[in-house]
Amino acid sequence: MSNCAIVGINWGDEGKGRMVDLLTEGYDVVVRYQGGGNAGHTVINEYGKFALHLLPSGVFRKGVVNILGNGVALDPENLRTEAEDLLRRGVPVTPENLKVSDRVSLLLPWHRELDALEERRLADKQYGSTLQGIAPFYSDKFQKKTVMAGELFYPDYLRAHLAALLEWKNLTLTQVYGAPPCSMDDLLAWAEEYGSWLRPFVCDTGAFLRQAQAEGKNILFEAQLGALRDLDYGIYPYTTSSNAIAAYAPVGSGLPSAKLDEIVGVVKAYSTCVGEGPFVCEWSGPEAEALREAGGEYGAKTGRARRVGPLDIVATRYGVQTQAATCVALTKLDVLSYMDRIPVCVRYRLDGRETDDFPFPAALYDAEPVLAYFEGWQCDISGVRHWDDLPRAARDYVTFIEEQLGCPIRYVSVGPERESIILR
Ligand code: GDP
Repeated sequence: MSNCAIVGINWGDEGKGRMVDLLTEGYDVVVRYQGGGNAGHTVINEYGKFALHLLPSGVFRKGVVNILGNGVALDPENLRTEAEDLLRRGVPVTPENLKVSDRVSLLLPWHRELDALEERRLADKQYGSTLQGIAPFYSDKFQKKTVMAGELFYPDYLRAHLAALLEWKNLTLTQVYGAPPCSMDDLLAWAEEYGSWLRPFVCDTGAFLRQAQAEGKNILFEAQLGALRDLDYGIYPYTTSSNAIAAYAPVGSGLPSAKLDEIVGVVKAYSTCVGEGPFVCEWSGPEAEALREAGGEYGAKTGRARRVGPLDIVATRYGVQTQAATCVALTKLDVLSYMDRIPVCVRYRLDGRETDDFPFPAALYDAEPVLAYFEGWQCDISGVRHWDDLPRAARDYVTFIEEQLGCPIRYVSVGPERESIILR
């Protein structure tokens, strides 16, 4: 048996969904261990093109069991919309191939509302929330003010619990934000509608995973967002509200005894960032426009134009170390084919000296990129499937990154489709 985590090394949107979709072939179980429906994994395979928000990317593989672990922000509304969309398009989503942890906390209707109210209050100081209710959800979870999915099997207990939460939450809604209160009738109607849909999927996934482990099954752990968005290790406060790093996978999945044999860190061949916060290598103007167009860099969830720039070795090396990646998957190399020379940020200039170290978040505002330039290859590489068939300039670029990161690049992705991959 082997356990593998597939994680993002940078700001998210590295192409994790595409790598999980590819690698699920060798795994029996795929578990999402953190985050909610606030990001999107784009997957292109024989069923078509999909933007998955909550569902693990293993749903497309026959025989793979997909699990939403206790660390996830389980939004029943989003999950149902997503599952129904897949069903309509011929992808089965049933209690056989999707299991939801009875210990996962539920994102309640007021979380989305509180997200919008708080962004409105912040006005020009907004974090750039995707307004999916993730930050209010995780704050409530840590205050022990959410309900767990397993409570759906205890209706009287659930009703009393919801009533207590409602009383407390209405104080915030009305007295902090001056918004209208939620009503118990609406809350119960919501719980009935979404709870009855969700209930068949809910079970003790911890027991399922322990059994799978005992039987020697291969388990894949799937992250949402990258190391630089991790709550504790990322660019706080421009992080997400949970731990995206691989070290959290055993905890958030429901299998705390899991040892990870392999950690695949997904790195994009250039940098992109959605939302606010310091982004040292950011480009603007026509240079940025050209890269954004070439890479189709618009959010899978929001459609927002992503901020773009050259690969940032300093941030990426920090991401590799934080994730304890055992190998790297470098994605979107094909996107750089239009450039005649390719810039890479090799160090930061900070306080009058050059550094390889990723600084404390507040210092990032003063960091400037030190760039090195690589010869471009200027030909279409999307059909290449063997390392030796890549142009020399492309191989030099990949080899340089590998040396700088101190981690083997095992996969090079040259297109969004499942088969557009070079194994090294
Ligand atoms: P994730 O959240 O990390 O899974 O990343 P996203 O789905 O947000 O963004 C990755 C985008 O790049 C998607 O549109 C993918 O289809 C696409 N993609 C992934 N790998 C490649 C690649 O190697 N080349 C190209 N051209 N597109 C890719």
